[in-house]
Parts: sequence; C-alpha cells; structure tokens
Amino acid sequence: MKPRLSIGTIEVIVGPMFAGKTSELIRRIVRESYAKKKVGIFKPSIDVRYSVENVVSHDGLSYPAFVVPTSKNGIWKIYELAKENGLDVVGIDEAHFFPTELVSVCEKLADEGVRVIVAGLNLDFRGEPFETVKELLARADDITYLTAVCTVCGSPATRTQRLIDGKPAPYDSPRIVVGGKELYEARCRKHHVVPGKP
Ligand code: ADP
Ligand code: MG
Repeated sequence: MKPRLSIGTIEVIVGPMFAGKTSELIRRIVRESYAKKKVGIFKPSIDVRYSVENVVSHDGLSYPAFVVPTSKNGIWKIYELAKENGLDVVGIDEAHFFPTELVSVCEKLADEGVRVIVAGLNLDFRGEPFETVKELLARADDITYLTAVCTVCGSPATRTQRLIDGKPAPYDSPRIVVGGKELYEARCRKHHVVPGKP
C-alpha cells in the first residue's frame, strides 16, 4: 500500500491563562513523537517567565523549544527551522505575542503538509482579542477552546484578569506584561473586572 500523503493542517488551542493550552500542546507533540514524527515547538523570545529554552506549563510539564524573535522577519525563522529540521509537526506556543505574519508562516507550513498546532490567548487582560489569534482562528482546520477555573466562583473561566497589588489593572495599563500567578488570574465573564473600560 502506498503511504498516504500527509495533509497539513492548522489546529488552534485557545483560551485564557491557566486553561491548559501549553499542557495540551505538549501532549499532542509528545504523542506525535511516539509515532516517530519529527516534531518541534517554537515560542516567542518575549516569554522569559521560567526558562529560555523550554516551554513550561503551569503544572510543571516542560518540553524543549526553539526560541524565535517576534519581529516580522524573525518569525520566518520558524519556517526556516522547520524546513532545515524536516519537521512533520510544528507546535507554536504563546501565539498572541507574535505579529499577524505568523498566520502566513502557519499557512505556508500547512500547505506544505505540516501539522501545525498553535496555542494562544483568546483575549488580553482588557477582554479584547489578540489580532494574530483572531486571524488564526478564522483560518484553522480545528479549534480547541479550553477554559480555566474562575478564581472567584469556580465557574469555567474564559478571561484573564490582570492584578496590580491584588487589585484589577486599569484599562489603560500596558497590553503586554509577562507574568504568572503573581499578576494574572483566570476569571469568568462575571468576575472579570477592567476599571475604566469604555
Ligand atoms: P496555559 O498554557 O493555558 O496558561 P498551562 O497548561 O500552563 O495553561 O497550565 C494549566 C494548569 O494550570 C492546570 O492543569 C492547573 O494545574 C493549573 N492551574 C492553576 N490555576 C488554575 C485555574 N484557575 N484554573 C485551572 N487550572 C489552573
Ligand atoms: Mg501557556
């Protein structure tokens, strides 16, 4: 029997912080490595929360990652490295930190037969979408929407609350501030608070 031609796809794993996006990305990548596929995870160089050469989930799973710059040209490094290493499966974490050019990189890889799995935040701390993730969702072949647990009421959380000294961050604070539990909490729609939001 002839081997089946591999059909490239874009899968998007989306949700707020603590929803399990990174864990799910690592799970899918590890699974493919058992199938003897060539796999690689990429992450933006802006994310230096835990380590610079691993993706690490909030529950402690980790996997080696190529760290790539978030500049418009820099993100084509993902394509170059994928080709150089003959990757069958490409994982990309923290997609919201990349510019929208990431979409072209993912589409090109998928068109060339690569399984692309991208994880990213649905919304910023203000409750507004990240352009890159929005674009990826529209073009995805498969979407997994994960929720976390609201730290106030225990309902499914779809939003990321930023806190400054334990209080909700105002609407006009900077859009990107890298942090973990000391700065962010998962919240449901009802308990997501953004003072000064128009
Ligand atoms: P993400 O990449 O979406 O931020 P991770 O995969 O890094 O998520 O981490 C998910 C893990 O975070 C969960 O398995 C759980 O152990 C932990 N966690 C901490 N706070 C919460 C919360 N409020 N809701 C759900 N999981 C949480
Ligand atoms: Mg993550």
